[in-house]
Amino acid sequence: MDDGSTQNFNSLRVQHNDALGPFKGGIRFGPGVSLDEVKALAMWMTWKTALVGVPFGGAKGGIICDPKRFSKRELEALSRGYVQQFVEYIGPDKDIPAPDMYTNAQIMAWMLDEYEKLTGHHVPGAFTGKPVELGGIRTRESATGYGGAVVVQQVARLLKMKPKSTSVAVQGFGNVGHSAAQFLFDAGYKIVALSDSQGAIYNKKGLNPAAAMTCKIEKGKIAECYFAGSVVNGSKSGVISNDELLELDVDILIPAALENQITAKNAEKIKAKAVVELANGPTTPEADKILQQKKTTVVPDVLANAGGVVASYFEWVQNSYGYYWTDEEVYDKLSDILVKAFGRVLGKSGEHKADMRTGAYLLAVGRVAKAIELRGGI
Ligand code: NAD
Repeated sequence: MDDGSTQNFNSLRVQHNDALGPFKGGIRFGPGVSLDEVKALAMWMTWKTALVGVPFGGAKGGIICDPKRFSKRELEALSRGYVQQFVEYIGPDKDIPAPDMYTNAQIMAWMLDEYEKLTGHHVPGAFTGKPVELGGIRTRESATGYGGAVVVQQVARLLKMKPKSTSVAVQGFGNVGHSAAQFLFDAGYKIVALSDSQGAIYNKKGLNPAAAMTCKIEKGKIAECYFAGSVVNGSKSGVISNDELLELDVDILIPAALENQITAKNAEKIKAKAVVELANGPTTPEADKILQQKKTTVVPDVLANAGGVVASYFEWVQNSYGYYWTDEEVYDKLSDILVKAFGRVLGKSGEHKADMRTGAYLLAVGRVAKAIELRGGI
């Protein structure tokens, strides 16, 4: 620590399954990080990578600590300490960590540097989510939102919705929600509602996500951005609550904030024709059943927010052969993978007369099981 003392922090790495390729998953820092949470998230990664067909398994890691208390130097020491503990388990063909909650590109840079010092050679593919200067991918920040927008466009096509007349509400105007809203706005969709942790705004005629972000940065919260001429051209937006946003009469609802937002309490009141889960776990199992009965199309998180892990896969591929693609190439390849995955999930759920979540899990678990079987493991 900066005062010269030494403190120990419990660190975790869970490797769930590597039948399809090296383990892959983020490292989160936080006081509430627990082994059970990290185990569950590692399993989620196994299904997500298998579903979209990138050659990885599933893992997750974490350090139980309060990262907001640390100076930059202490954070660096903590990040390097993590690698010192786990160096023999990490590597581009073993286990590839990435950023997650309260970790970022700078932390990946420290971790990569420590890993290369300990192993004695350059291995940029040992971590993804690195700074661009160290072999990171420029589009990583927007990849999850971009992938979400690709999935929304597939849903719109499926439900025969035209972009101009398709209204979209986005819960959570952070990294993922903001980029998804922006890509959809650019594709001609009507973004009618946006929210952050402190409230929401709604305008039937549509909002401009770029103007909304400028205003949110200036005012500190989206609910302050309702006045005429701010985020809509000339007309006023209304301030609504986060609960009201979820229950709006819109075509597509995108939860992009937290888990457990659509529950047994509000599922009956959800009017959207489709819910595209960009957050992890926004719908509880009870709510899922209700939405199914109401014939709401729900695109599960493992498919809808897989854009981020696909971009990480591209980063790893580029690192391994030292050749870097243009942003356009990355977006095209990402779109191709997600459109195909969407089609396969739809096919599987149709085959089993099941919802898309069941279809997605049938595919993902089936692929992992087949790989284990081929390896002689069953
Ligand atoms: P973020 O912290 O950048 O943004 C989260 C946003 O949600 C913030 O604007 C916050 O104000 C808002 N929010 C918090 N509580 C809210 C509430 N009750 N109602 C409305 N808004 C609320 O996080 P992010 O990276 O955009 O991640 C969002 C979700 O997407 C998480 O569930 C995350 O696990 C998931 N996800 C992210 C990625 C990625 O690449 N970042 C990849 C896959 C999944």
